[in-house]
Amino acid sequence: MLNIVLFGPPGAGKGTQSQNLIDKYQLKHLSTGDIFRANIKGETELGKLAKSYIDKGALVPDEVTINMLKSELDNNPQAKGFIFDGFPRTIAQAQALDSLLSSMDTSISLMLALEVPEAELKERLLKRAETSGRSDDADPAIIANRIATYNKETAPVKSFYQEQNKLHEIVGTGSIEEISERLYNAIDQH
Ligand code: AMP
Repeated sequence: MLNIVLFGPPGAGKGTQSQNLIDKYQLKHLSTGDIFRANIKGETELGKLAKSYIDKGALVPDEVTINMLKSELDNNPQAKGFIFDGFPRTIAQAQALDSLLSSMDTSISLMLALEVPEAELKERLLKRAETSGRSDDADPAIIANRIATYNKETAPVKSFYQEQNKLHEIVGTGSIEEISERLYNAIDQH
């Protein structure tokens, strides 16, 4: 199996690049942000809970997020591999993911970490707000909180994979195609 963690701060291009990777490598895309938004739209209990955190730019609690991810893995037994987009976002989530995959006799193949300067992230998110309809993209205070949460809680996840020699840092600026090429090279050479 090819199991990829696509990592990076909000606005780094994880969603956009996931689309290209799924097509090329036939992977199942698991975006925890997308799954939360689908639950919010469907007005489920999970959606109501997630919304209260997402609206502030905070993380949804680990237990809730990990349980949700576990059921997605259980629901896709035929997958040739997964691309994890927006997960794991804490060390606890990374540890849980390792043990979930290990119980399926597989593991993370590599982490691709998109690197984008903070000023460009903020610009990209405000621009995305014009079309995404996401209220968490439109408010500079929420954006600032999402980036602060990333720096404090999520950035340490990189070291977790670095210790396993699985970290590949990718320059996340330039055209979408240029960035995709860098990702393909890292995957094909890993
Ligand atoms: P994203 O679409 O990845 O930008 O995620 C949007 C929001 O969903 C985040 O700001 C968090 O509030 C929540 N979220 C997404 N993935 C996770 C995760 N792995 N752990 C906790 N919260 C998450």
